[in-house]
Amino acid sequence: MKTFSATEFRKQFPLLQTVSDSDNVIYFDNAATSQKTLAVTNASRDFYLKNNANVHRASHFLSAKATKLFEVVRTKVQRLINAKYENEIIWTKGTTEAINLIAQSYGLSFIKPGDEIVISAGEHHANIVPWQHVAQQVGAKLIILPLDEKGIIDLHEAKQLISAKCKLVAINHISNVLGKINPIKELIALAKKHSAKTLIDGAQAIAHLPVDVQELDCDFYVFSAHKMYGPTGVGVLYGKQAILESMPPYQFGGEMIKKVSFTGTSYNELPHKFEAGTPNIAGVVGLGACLDIFIDKQFLPMAEYEQQLCQYLYQKLSKIEQVQFLVNGCPDIPVFSFTCSGFHHQDVATYLDSKGIAVRAGHHCAMPLLEGLGLDGSIRVSLAPYNTFNEVDFFIERLSEFCLGEL
Ligand code: PLP
Repeated sequence: MKTFSATEFRKQFPLLQTVSDSDNVIYFDNAATSQKTLAVTNASRDFYLKNNANVHRASHFLSAKATKLFEVVRTKVQRLINAKYENEIIWTKGTTEAINLIAQSYGLSFIKPGDEIVISAGEHHANIVPWQHVAQQVGAKLIILPLDEKGIIDLHEAKQLISAKCKLVAINHISNVLGKINPIKELIALAKKHSAKTLIDGAQAIAHLPVDVQELDCDFYVFSAHKMYGPTGVGVLYGKQAILESMPPYQFGGEMIKKVSFTGTSYNELPHKFEAGTPNIAGVVGLGACLDIFIDKQFLPMAEYEQQLCQYLYQKLSKIEQVQFLVNGCPDIPVFSFTCSGFHHQDVATYLDSKGIAVRAGHHCAMPLLEGLGLDGSIRVSLAPYNTFNEVDFFIERLSEFCLGEL
């Protein structure tokens, strides 16, 4: 097995190169968005400088080149998540748009009055609000699966709550607040028993776990490029071919049509049926330049390193008396949410920021989860494999001095 060096990996990220002590950043907000590799920014830039043309349209060589560069990334994503067919990969703006696409297209067409849509108490707003809207529009009921004390979806409760009325189970693979892996295989199997469809929000999982959609046997899996070192404005919707084919288009216009006529319009084949208008071509090409990180053999040693960093931070944080984790146990990926007793979460984050440490404070787009825990916010520290043990030590020292008032 290849070995993994955080120092070498870090060199791929221009923003993380120290120019001087004063502008050095300890970037611990990776769950919000990761930093970008030079290969990613170069690929997007080179696209504009050397290959710029619209895709699938003109019959000139530049357009053919652009289309090839764009489509090759679809094939790479297909391989990354082991989708059966290339046309099961649909480009979106991100996870949020992918979920909205499913809600607007599948949800409004196939969910009927009296049906149930099942989500969990630990969802990001992106996987709550679209379903609230669908439920309201069609007269369906939203069912909320509770989490257990470790912060994962309670399977026992799920068995009681998922019934024959359920049309869709939409849950996250990993919580963006708690960093815990949900038992999605079991939940997918449970949904299937009741002939319900399944949507997995993989926004936090894709950069940390190998994902195999055929093995999971989920109907939809969605994620964003910007959380896996890729550009903003690009996301992936995976859907099983037969289901995508049965769904109406989400947006209408160019590219998604086969024939337009005032006497009737017909729609394009997958995946184009769901890709109306000019896509984010340079963004998709940029994404293509970071996928090797995940497809390459270095992924496993990288994940191992990340685990060591995760355990290390958990042990260090556990020793600070004022730190209260939101749920029990070490997270499965290095995403830690906690409060510091006696201090407002924003004050902690502001102090850390003054020391060059970027963390997130607030509700993390999961207000119902925080509310359920009796909180209006927390501090969230989220690491990536370019973070180091030294950075963790520096962070722990600053947090300890803040909690002890030794400023
Ligand atoms: N779902 C989860 C679990 C997330 O963590 C996020 C972003 O933080 C989203 C959905 C929304 O992703 P995006 O803003 O890229 O659409």
